Amino acid sequence: MKLDTENLKRVASAIEGADNILCVSHVAPDGDAIGSLLGAGWILRSLGKTPTLALHDPVPEGLRFLPGAGQVIGPQDVGADYDLILCLDASSPDRMGKVYREADHAHIPLAVVDHHVTNTLFGTANWVEPGCAAACQMLVYLADALAVPLTGPLAECLLTGTVTDTLGFRTSNTSADVMEAAMRLMRGGASLPEITAQTLNRRPVRELKLWGLVLPNMQLSDGVIWVTASRAQLAAVGAEPADLRLASILVSAVEANISATFIERLDEDGEQVVECSFRAKPGFDVSGVAFELGGGGHPPASGCTLPGELEEVTSMVVAKLKAAHAAQVAAGKHP
Ligand code: 5GP
Ligand code: MN
Repeated sequence: MKLDTENLKRVASAIEGADNILCVSHVAPDGDAIGSLLGAGWILRSLGKTPTLALHDPVPEGLRFLPGAGQVIGPQDVGADYDLILCLDASSPDRMGKVYREADHAHIPLAVVDHHVTNTLFGTANWVEPGCAAACQMLVYLADALAVPLTGPLAECLLTGTVTDTLGFRTSNTSADVMEAAMRLMRGGASLPEITAQTLNRRPVRELKLWGLVLPNMQLSDGVIWVTASRAQLAAVGAEPADLRLASILVSAVEANISATFIERLDEDGEQVVECSFRAKPGFDVSGVAFELGGGGHPPASGCTLPGELEEVTSMVVAKLKAAHAAQVAAGKHP
């Protein structure tokens, strides 16, 4: 694959020239966010640097098995004195949440390592590879550039993000290069079956119960399939918004090309917001709708968070998804 080696080198030399480095990934972290954050930590430690790993939200329970997960700090413990900030898997500055404080951090060089096509290039160095399936795949190439071996905890963290972001090498961006990167991580000692068992093949019962509550109200029309989850439904099974994880399953419906889930929650200021997750079958693109609504992501998987009531946000967003679907069908590349 053709990498943006110029910006890769820019990020690598920013790292080489720094010692105290604040590493951060995105709010509501997934496997690629945690894998790339911890992986960056292992790369930096192996270079003799002093990394601080920070996240707006806690490490999800299902990812705490990863080496180094216990060292991640919350926003309240983030200082102001770093040589470099390394931002992973985040497409815009708001995705860092309260870890990044404009007043304290704006003067510090900011290196962005991300694979989202919607990245807003908000760093002082921006290495963005939309052709990579995971930020963790990019860190394989960063480790190469810095002559860090892909072994031990680093290999385990990077394989985890690669496996989870590709849903077990099933997404449309699973290229030979992804497989090659994964194979090198396995040769370095990471276990694909163990990582798969700990992540994709593992979910709490409350998640299955939540599916049982929301699936009866699933709707399908004009190529779009969707479900909603109210705060009352989440509370009934003791689930968190992050527990739903149904968008990728919904888009497997033969009759749909685009799926969406809408989850109601209160934000930190007590305001009601709706978390929207979108998925598209190969050839369709939901990143445009997400970006237009202030979110972001990839053509086949994107999302946004909007203020408002569950019903009204759902009908507004579904209308946009249907319009995007119709336009993409009309563009003629689809059956
Ligand atoms: P998920 O549906 O798994 O939460 O997210 C799918 C993709 O959309 C991920 O790549 C994630 O980074 C992106 N995404 C989800 N929600 C948001 C959001 O509120 N803002 C941005 N910028 N991206 C989002
Ligand atoms: Mn990612």
